[in-house]
Amino acid sequence: MTKKVLIIEDNEQNMYLFSFLLEQNGYQVIQAENGHKGMTLAEDEQPDFILLDIQLPDMNGYEIAQKLRNNPQTTDIPIIAVTSYAMVGDREKTIESGCTGYIEKPINPDTFLSEIKRFIANTGPGGQG
Ligand code: MN
Repeated sequence: MTKKVLIIEDNEQNMYLFSFLLEQNGYQVIQAENGHKGMTLAEDEQPDFILLDIQLPDMNGYEIAQKLRNNPQTTDIPIIAVTSYAMVGDREKTIESGCTGYIEKPINPDTFLSEIKRFIANTGPGGQG
């Protein structure tokens, strides 16, 4: 079955690159360029997982992750933060806010998919629990 991924990212070049890599690997991609649209699409589309930028025009990714976790309709959807913040403590902050994992920008196109799969392998139907 085709897996559906929601990308919440305001940078056009990143959105293009992430979408390209995922579609090339057989994923169905849904795009949101801000937090509010992303949260609406997460509810309506029920994606298999979410790639979440932290710096967005209307709200930050930590806030989005917390809201998705507090919403019964989206609480089980894995969230992978993709962020250029490279400061000490940011990884902890993404996990505390409810993210499943964390990938640093600039992403490596050769390992992007395997990094994602590492975080979502144990979730959902067919996973290891
Ligand atoms: Mn951004």
